Amino acid sequence: MYGAITTILFVVAALYLAYRRLPLFSYSVTFTLLLAVYTWLARPEGVWQGLLWLALVVLWLFNVRPLRRALISRPFLRTYLKLLPSMSDTERDALEAGTVWWDGELFSGNPDWSKLRANPPARLSAEEQAFLDGPCETLCRMIDEFDVTHRRGDLPPEAWEFIKQQGFFAMIIPKQYGGLGFGAYAHSCVLVKLAGRSVTAASTVAVPNSLGPAELLNHYGTEAQKNHYLPRLARGEDIPCFALTGPRVGSDAAAIPDTGVVCRGIYQGREVLGLRLNFSKRYITLAPVATVVGLAFRMFDPEHLLGDTVDIGITCALLPRDTPGITIGRRHFPLNIPFQNGPIQGHDVFVPLDSIIGGPAMAGQGWRMLVEQLSVGRCISLPSNASGGALAATLATGAYARIRRQFNLPVGKFEGVQLVLARMLGHSYIMNAARSVTTAAIDAGARPAVPAGILKAHVTELGRRVANDAMDVQGGKAIMLGPKNLLGRGYQSIPIAITVEGANILTRNLIIFGQGAIRCHPFVLKEMTAARNPDRARAVRDFDAALFGHLGFAISNAARAFVMALTFARFEDVQFTGATRRYFQHIERFSASFALMTDVAMLALGGYLKKKENLSARLGDVLSCMYLASMVLKHYEDEGSPPEDLPVIEWCCRELLYQAQEHLHGVLRNFPVRWLAASMRLCIFPRGRTYFAPPDRLARTVADLALAPGPTRARLGRCVYTTAEPGNQQGELAALLELADRAELLEKRVRVEGVKTGRITALDLPGQVRQAEQLGLLSADEARFLDDYDARVMAIVNVDDFAPHELGTAGAAVG
Ligand SMILES: Cc1cc2nc3c(=O)[nH]c(=O)nc-3n(C[C@H](O)[C@H](O)[C@H](O)COP(=O)(O)OP(=O)(O)OC[C@H]3O[C@@H](n4cnc5c(N)ncnc54)[C@H](O)[C@@H]3O)c2cc1C
Repeated sequence: MYGAITTILFVVAALYLAYRRLPLFSYSVTFTLLLAVYTWLARPEGVWQGLLWLALVVLWLFNVRPLRRALISRPFLRTYLKLLPSMSDTERDALEAGTVWWDGELFSGNPDWSKLRANPPARLSAEEQAFLDGPCETLCRMIDEFDVTHRRGDLPPEAWEFIKQQGFFAMIIPKQYGGLGFGAYAHSCVLVKLAGRSVTAASTVAVPNSLGPAELLNHYGTEAQKNHYLPRLARGEDIPCFALTGPRVGSDAAAIPDTGVVCRGIYQGREVLGLRLNFSKRYITLAPVATVVGLAFRMFDPEHLLGDTVDIGITCALLPRDTPGITIGRRHFPLNIPFQNGPIQGHDVFVPLDSIIGGPAMAGQGWRMLVEQLSVGRCISLPSNASGGALAATLATGAYARIRRQFNLPVGKFEGVQLVLARMLGHSYIMNAARSVTTAAIDAGARPAVPAGILKAHVTELGRRVANDAMDVQGGKAIMLGPKNLLGRGYQSIPIAITVEGANILTRNLIIFGQGAIRCHPFVLKEMTAARNPDRARAVRDFDAALFGHLGFAISNAARAFVMALTFARFEDVQFTGATRRYFQHIERFSASFALMTDVAMLALGGYLKKKENLSARLGDVLSCMYLASMVLKHYEDEGSPPEDLPVIEWCCRELLYQAQEHLHGVLRNFPVRWLAASMRLCIFPRGRTYFAPPDRLARTVADLALAPGPTRARLGRCVYTTAEPGNQQGELAALLELADRAELLEKRVRVEGVKTGRITALDLPGQVRQAEQLGLLSADEARFLDDYDARVMAIVNVDDFAPHELGTAGAAVG
């Protein structure tokens, strides 16, 4: 009996020590005491007792670092070095880009929420708010997206002029150079507002503020380059584009075949040292109208004019459009969204070395420059455009589902539609929270590379789901293109957001987890760096510290995952008692399970994990779900934890945690080492899969928030162009939503007291209203109100039609 009791005590003590992440010394003392008590009470057999004491001695020896290094770490380091996959310079640059932020906490298995809470809330300065309310609203007002997409194939000239004059292209250019000097959050809000109105305008504005000449000059340009270009870009005198992609290189952008060879040549009448460039680029946004081209190419110095190195590496330079040898001006036609985009070719283009961004000193640094800037840019442009589209679509569709009646009910009152509306609102909230909190982190100094991948892939993917849902709810209204169509062009544009700045399949499969596992893991990078240290004594010391830290970390994560799975993480201390406390606890549980599975996958599969893309993608999905759920919780707190939004928070967290569980389950189901998968299943899911998707009851509550005016809609619509003015259907829908309660009451009176009793015989609402007024069921004022409301609703419900010659450009006759 004493044996059984002590065994239980051993297990409980081990779990406790591991759960609390106590140091090795605590294990050694605790186990010594327990073994002494066990020996005294149970008097075990000689061999068994000997083995237990031997194990304890080994445990104590692990505390003696010099011995541990000599016996374990030094020999293991040799094997580790052989297993360590080689890494190209471009891979290393990509891995080292940016900083580790909240993503690192999620990898820790025990996230410290105070670090997330310390992040300042997303706020606009008075100047940024004024820009959003002023020039940004005006630009929205100036654009008729159907005119732009169908008739003109471009933004109108006055919109181009306004964009340049008001500094839309200069949001990231510092004020000292004449730019707006906006923060990342403000920049994101401007794109949100534009994207809800016009994908063409949003894409046009996004590009100069994203990865490109201005950003590269800001960070790496020489003073002369900054002083020359930044004021011109800020004033809109120069239009930039950035050309990286070519016909042979898309996703694998580092494999650029375009060359720049160092040579002497004549530039502006003088012989100078420069580059002879040959390139072929495509898909380049703003290229057809650009006056200055940022170009990425591979630089060579075969004649050793600069030094010993022949292949200098990827380099970025700035080329004025009129440089001889450049062919530019033709346009691609990206899915009916006619923002300026086209190919550029260059044949023996000669430019001086000063054209290199940052000057000759930055030759060969192009890839590092690009990936460093992408770690910020990918959090902003595409996620903001996708959020803007989703928020606008959700608000419009919620209102439409309220005013559009079928079977005598608003279509939004049917359960099937409610489920879709709840999903739209939930997804839009997640997207908005993720972009707001992450851009606020950037404004506070973070350069979050892994979250950038998460936002790029998952926010744009959620955007696609919202667009699909919106199309389903609006039905034929959304299908018939024309000035009255709010959704069609946005829906068409979705694959653009999915493809650019790192196509989503690649980002999900290779980047999020691949980069995170090395960059954010508390020990992996330390082990790799230590192992590669040429100072062997130092290498062994650092490697030993990282290796044993890693071991303790893995044991702790196993204990934490198991205990939290058994207890539903109910006892995990998250230093928080509010209504959302349980979600913090659930994220902690997933963080421990994810950290454990990360170690198991890396240990069991090593470099092969890179090839098992679907496993790495699913692990990345678990991380992404935790990240997005954290953003939702943080955003909710930043908004002052309004109780009306609580059902949406519940929907978002339940959905994301359920998805996290399913992705983790997917990892286990497909893990190639089956016995290991079975063991992990026991550890991570000892009670089976216990999370469920949001229930229908919750969906109904959330859908109601989309179907009525209120603070939740107002908060979501803060950056959306909802101003009630002619030409803005979004504004008209919001205005009608305010009238819907009264209109529904009056319609009900007409139906119940007039139509159902047979006193009213008219079939359509206007006829019924007239009869109701005659019968005294409606006052004159009520009848006028209902007539007016119905006319405005029908103006929204009606779609466009065209004379045959108005469609198509060739004017073909139909026989
Ligand atoms: C509208 C638009 C605007 C653009 N603007 C610019 C610009 O201004 N400047 C610029 O330089 N470029 C620009 N691009 C290029 C853009 O960045 C590329 O299209 C993108 O990198 C993808 O390249 P690709 O289209 O050739 O796809 P491919 O590279 O051919 O990929 C095809 C598919 O394979 C997947 N894939 C590829 N490799 C892997 C892998 N290892 N694992 C899993 N999946 C993989 C991709 O995810 C994708 O789904 C633009 C593109 C578009 C469409």
